[in-house]
Amino acid sequence: MNARARGGAAPEHYLAMVFRGGEAALRPELRPLPRPGSGELLLRVEACGVCRTDLHLVDGELPDPVLPVVPGHEIVGRVEAVGPGVTGFEPGRRVGVPWLGWTCGSCRHCRRERENLCDRARFTGYQIDGGYAEMALADARYCFPLPEDADPVALAPLLCAGLIGYRTLRLAGPVNVVGLYGFGAAAHILAQVLRHRGVRFHAFTRPGDAEAQGFARELGAAWAGGSDELPPEPLDAALLFAPVGALVPTALRAVDKGGVVVCGGIHMSEIPSFPYRILWEERSIRSVANLTRRDGREFLALAPRIPVRTETRPYPLTEANRALADLRAGRLRGAAVLVPPGHGAPAERG
Ligand SMILES: [Zn+2]
Ligand SMILES: [Zn+2]
Repeated sequence: MNARARGGAAPEHYLAMVFRGGEAALRPELRPLPRPGSGELLLRVEACGVCRTDLHLVDGELPDPVLPVVPGHEIVGRVEAVGPGVTGFEPGRRVGVPWLGWTCGSCRHCRRERENLCDRARFTGYQIDGGYAEMALADARYCFPLPEDADPVALAPLLCAGLIGYRTLRLAGPVNVVGLYGFGAAAHILAQVLRHRGVRFHAFTRPGDAEAQGFARELGAAWAGGSDELPPEPLDAALLFAPVGALVPTALRAVDKGGVVVCGGIHMSEIPSFPYRILWEERSIRSVANLTRRDGREFLALAPRIPVRTETRPYPLTEANRALADLRAGRLRGAAVLVPPGHGAPAERG
């Protein structure tokens, strides 16, 4: 019997790391290889980034996940099979799959080019199985073409950290001086965009994190310090990537009159109360939710022109739990990326 025969007695299987709820650990599972349905692509995953949102998922901090679920929404993969009705994606083509996995196209938000706010949106690695696996299915309309010759591990963080950071900056409006709170996967990419645009930026890390502050200076930060410090000048915008609600009033104190605090994460700890006078003078606070396909197209066109270089730490797919633990503990510089077997997966690390 040919082991690769589909649908026979020995169908081909693929490895997926699955979250079933409850205890915060992913379990490896062998799943039968699916066929792509109408409008879908079946992808062979080359790399999948690990995002803080995945951590919020396994920590039970996000409402209504569709369980069991394969996390992962920074998927770089090659088209293995094309479902009926898909045009523009040939087998072998490299594509990226982001967090926004499906929208209705007809609700009031979709009709106003705010598909990121779609009432019925579904998200990759949350309500749709994601990329912590050897194979993944995706709706072709939400996939982005990616450069064929780039390193897939280096591309993966662009698909969420990169483009959510980009949207966070967009929502800040016109700026000359920016503060980045939390200097991890998103901020290290956005720093390169800011430098490319000639926008001065200051980086705030956990107090005493000299390594992260040094990393920020390497990437062009005019100043880097602890989040308990004030920057050397008032900020036009403070962009928050650390999931720490207490940073909201801290950042409000650092922004200039008319300035904005933009919260880039999907979840934050409770925001403590604060005196009105730090919001006074037309300061504002807003959040970023998800992305639109326009954000993705714009950012993925911009990234190679800068060019954005991502700092990554690859982990074998089966080490997903360790990658999440390292992210939780703040042991990462840059972004963790999972690599399935057979794609130059890194050797077991100590
Ligand atoms: Zn909609
Ligand atoms: Zn993400």
